[in-house]
Amino acid sequence: MPSKQIDYLYLEKGQLSDNDHMLLQRAEAVLRFSHSPYSNFKVASAVLLEDGSISEGTNQENAAYPSGLCAERVALYAAKGRSHEKIKTLLVIARDALGQPADAFCCGGCRQVIMEYASLQDEPIRIVMGDHAHQFVVLANAKDLLPFHFNSSSLQ
Ligand SMILES: [Zn+2]
Repeated sequence: MPSKQIDYLYLEKGQLSDNDHMLLQRAEAVLRFSHSPYSNFKVASAVLLEDGSISEGTNQENAAYPSGLCAERVALYAAKGRSHEKIKTLLVIARDALGQPADAFCCGGCRQVIMEYASLQDEPIRIVMGDHAHQFVVLANAKDLLPFHFNSSSLQ
């Protein structure tokens, strides 16, 4: 029976790399821009590109619920909407209604979007996801988030 193994690290904040610390600071700095009056669940993401630039994003909810967008996609589309630079790392964090750390595990839709961009570059995209214990799940390759993902070759 074939199987797939998922490789990840589970790190304390103090074990994050300098780059990941920088992304964490940038994400924390924009959390206040989360528009989340319906869920009271604030999410912020920071994306590091190959040229060293960073795009941040926060979740943007809407009274017409499906019109909202996740923080990861806000950050990714801001990055890729202005640049062809490769994506090195995407970090995401969340805070609950009390402002406490919460699980910031990318939803399926965001995983699909990440894989679209991963397929365009020949280097893997790193993923850093904060959790409720203020620790971080770190994946060296986003494909471990979404095995058997749908991609352009699926359309041929
Ligand atoms: Zn999402």
